[in-house]
Amino acid sequence: MSRSVLVTGGNRGIGLAIARAFAAQGDKVAVTHRGSGVPEGLLGVKCDVTSAEEIDAAFTEVEAAHGPVEVLVCNAGMTQDTLLLRMSEEQFTQVVDANLTGAFRFAQRASRGMLRKKFGRIVFISSVVGFTGGAGQVNYAASKAGMVGMARSIALELGSRNITANVVTPGFITTDMTADLPEAVREAALKQIPAGRYGAADEIARAVTFLAADEAGYINGAVLPVDGGLGMGH
Ligand code: NDP
Repeated sequence: MSRSVLVTGGNRGIGLAIARAFAAQGDKVAVTHRGSGVPEGLLGVKCDVTSAEEIDAAFTEVEAAHGPVEVLVCNAGMTQDTLLLRMSEEQFTQVVDANLTGAFRFAQRASRGMLRKKFGRIVFISSVVGFTGGAGQVNYAASKAGMVGMARSIALELGSRNITANVVTPGFITTDMTADLPEAVREAALKQIPAGRYGAADEIARAVTFLAADEAGYINGAVLPVDGGLGMGH
C-alpha cells in the first residue's frame, strides 16, 4: 500500500536516504527543508521545525497533495557542541528546541490524522549519544534521550489505535554532521566501533522503513540501535 510519508530534514544526509528508501518502495514522500529545495521525486515543504505555524502550513500542504500523514519520521536535528562549563542556556535550549520540541510539534500535529485513520507510524531519529552521553554534548544528548521517553509515552497513549512510536539510534554515520568533526575525534570514535567502520545513511533508512511497515504494528516503544555495536544494544 502506498502511504503518505513525511520526513523532517529530508533534504540531505540521513533524512534524504530515508525519504529515498520510502519513495523506492512506492510511497508518497514529502520532506521538509529550510530553503535548499529537494531532489526530484520528493515533495518539498518549507519549514523550520522550531515554528509551530510553519509546521501546520507544511502539514496542510502535504495533506492536500498526499492525504493525511501516515508515516512520520522526525529526523531533523542539529548540534552545538561545547563543554558544560562553557555552554550557554541559549545553546542548550536551541538544540533541545530543534531536536526534541521540534519532534514533539510534528508528532502532535501528525497524531490528529493518524487517530482519524486508526493507523500511524512515528519514528524518532535519536542517537547512541542519548544513552552513552557525549563529552561536549550535554544539550544534544539530553535532546536525544528525551525522544525515548516521548516515544514510549506516545506508545502508551496511542498504541490501541494501531499507532506506533519507535526510536532509531544511529551511531557514527557519514554525513555533513560528522564531516564537521575534527579528524582526531573521528579517529577516536572509529576505534570504539566494533564494526570497525562508520555507518552509511542507507543503513539507517533500512531500519526506519522496517519500523514503518504495516507488518511492524506489534513493535511499539522500542529502541533500535544502528551503530555497528557502539552502544552494545542500547
Ligand atoms: P545533517 O547535518 O546532514 O542534516 C541535518 C538535517 O536537519 C538537515 O536537513 C537540516 O536542514 C535539518 N535541520 C536542522 N535544524 C533544523 C531546523 N531547525 N528546522 C528544520 N530542519 C532542520 O545531519 P544528519 O543527516 O547526519 O543527521 C540526521 C539526524 O540523525 C539528526 O537528528 C542527527 O542528530 C541524527 N544522528 C546523526 C548521526 C550521524 O552520525 N550523522 C548519529 C546519530 C544521530 P538544513 O539543510 O536546512 O540545515
